[in-house]
Amino acid sequence: DIVPIRTALISVSDKSGLVEFAKALAARGTKILSTGGSAKMLREAGIAVTEVSEHTGFPEILDGRVKTLVPQVHGGILGKRHDPSHIAQMAEHGIAPIDLVAVNLYPFEATVARNAEFDDCIENIDIGGPAMIRSAAKNHEGVTVLTEPSHYARVLEEIDAHGGTTLSTRRSLAAAAYARTAAYDSAISSWFAAQLGESYPDRFSFSGAKKQELRYGENPHQSAAFYTSSPARFGVATATQHQGKELSYNNYNDTDAAFECVAEFDEPAVVIVKHANPCGVATGTSTAAAWDLALACDPVSAFGGIVALNRTLDEETATKIVTIFTEVIIAPDATEGAKQVLAAKKNLRLLTTGGVPSPTQEGMTFKSLAGGFLVQNRDAGRVTAEALKIVTQRAPTAAELEDMLFAFRVAKHVKSNAIVYTKNRATIGVGAGQMNRVDSARIAAWRGKEAKLDFTGCAVASDAFFPFADGLEAAIAAGASCVIQPGGSIRDKEVIEAANKAGIAMVFTNMRHFRH
Ligand code: 5GP
Repeated sequence: DIVPIRTALISVSDKSGLVEFAKALAARGTKILSTGGSAKMLREAGIAVTEVSEHTGFPEILDGRVKTLVPQVHGGILGKRHDPSHIAQMAEHGIAPIDLVAVNLYPFEATVARNAEFDDCIENIDIGGPAMIRSAAKNHEGVTVLTEPSHYARVLEEIDAHGGTTLSTRRSLAAAAYARTAAYDSAISSWFAAQLGESYPDRFSFSGAKKQELRYGENPHQSAAFYTSSPARFGVATATQHQGKELSYNNYNDTDAAFECVAEFDEPAVVIVKHANPCGVATGTSTAAAWDLALACDPVSAFGGIVALNRTLDEETATKIVTIFTEVIIAPDATEGAKQVLAAKKNLRLLTTGGVPSPTQEGMTFKSLAGGFLVQNRDAGRVTAEALKIVTQRAPTAAELEDMLFAFRVAKHVKSNAIVYTKNRATIGVGAGQMNRVDSARIAAWRGKEAKLDFTGCAVASDAFFPFADGLEAAIAAGASCVIQPGGSIRDKEVIEAANKAGIAMVFTNMRHFRH
């Protein structure tokens, strides 16, 4: 199953390692065919090369849009080497076999990443390259296909050891080739949908570039990697890490949750996250003031947490954060003073993102399940004061309204069933992930009271409606004076009556924020 490499076709955009590879092939007696830019580079390096246009008798036309899309190329790649009829047809049409195809594609992803104009992105969609890659991979029985520079050394080693490539290597390279063309087309389709302002789950195609192999997944016996997808969003995918150990799978997950939550707020804000749930969220006149309030919500859980800021990390805030054990800090930027403070904590990771993502930006999220995955638009919903419907006899005060909106924005980032108590735009109790709403209401109040926080006159938010009055009654018993919730239960009347009986104010958002 060894196939010697008599003729190779080389057509690459990423020209790293190209000259060394072609030189090595030529030295082993391989005839080299190549396209315009690649051929020029090889000739200048003193390597004997035949232009594809010379080989086919057909010039490159339409600004390079058609270079290799001709029967001499595709017949030479696709013809079966041991099929007498294929051999006869190739001879009849003067088509010579091509044994090796080394192609990497126009840099579409990089063009999009540098925010190029629409037409520029379109021009960077490679047509002939993927066609050759797919032809060569299909006919891997007789053809070796290389789709990235890291493949060069592997193939040369095999040629030296066996005088050609083995079937198992050709198959493995063919699998890599289809993975590449699939990812390439996904990148194009995702970009295209985004250009149209469309990101429909029914057109979803996953496209990601591997950014990092992770030490392990959620647990040490699971392997894992981090992939970035486009269009990019300020956050973990765009972040620069300034110090500390490599981020783990769980770090990425928690850091993302923290940064998405802190992005909800316009004024300086701090979020502390543990296991993807916020355990302290606060706004303030400065991030240092917000930090004190966020930490006060649940200092027990904050230990070993992830901290997110929506402002540049300054020295004062950094000095406060390092007083407790923290895994990761993520912020749009950090001052030199802040960096110096953190430098003493060798393991602490500092990430800066360059910006804060828009909470209302369209996008896609997905979640795997056995044998498939669920796709949806990201929860870009955002309730404003105008959308609220007052349903109780007592209307909320202006201060209560502000606090309720804050509480509801936090609740959006808490795993369901979510109950969030807040006071003066800081959380004082977060109930997350319980299987019934009344337990979330009780746990959040218990936790906050353990931290010696005063619940009298606080606001409470629920991510979904109260199915019974009991959850609301638990919140009232804890000290809540106003409630924000979506409404829509068949027992809304009962729940409103309970609110009126207690003399509290309640508003409906008509928007739910489940998060599982
Ligand atoms: P070169 O720099 O050698 O002129 O061009 C190399 C690039 O052209 C490679 O990325 C290859 O995938 C691409 N390519 C090869 N043939 C064709 C073709 O027929 N049409 C288009 N659009 N691209 C091609």
